[in-house]
Amino acid sequence: MTIRFCHMDSPSLLQEGEIISYGTKIGRMGNTGSSKGAHVHTDIVQGYKKDVYHLKDIMNNITDLESVCRQFYYFLQDDFFNTPLFVTSHFGTIDYGKYRNGKVSEWKFHPAYDIVPENRHLTKANFDFYWNRSVNGVCLKSGFDRDYGNYVNIGFEV
Ligand SMILES: [Zn+2]
Repeated sequence: MTIRFCHMDSPSLLQEGEIISYGTKIGRMGNTGSSKGAHVHTDIVQGYKKDVYHLKDIMNNITDLESVCRQFYYFLQDDFFNTPLFVTSHFGTIDYGKYRNGKVSEWKFHPAYDIVPENRHLTKANFDFYWNRSVNGVCLKSGFDRDYGNYVNIGFEV
């Protein structure tokens, strides 16, 4: 599977092909791309994805929604930021509608989690985030995208 972390403060220091083990720093939470406040947007897709994909691609390609959702559970733990985290947008949140002629013409579904350290308003000490799985990951791609800002895609086996 591939997990992606987005809107990072600066480009990831991870190199393509680099093996990532428990405790490896992935990046620092930021507000790059189309983001309205510092947070980590994270989504998971099946397979190893190197290319930028979009939310609608996720919806069109998820064949095993249950396993995708189960994988999130293992990432969204206190050792991600090394402090308790808070989810600001859940998987399945309808982010917003696109209005046309006074009617909602398109609802946007959020097949992802937006997460922040709980103490973010008190300190920036926990903005760095880490690989918190016992299984190793491999950096597939890191880059910058207009929507996702500084992002990194990490492949892992389940
Ligand atoms: Zn998001």
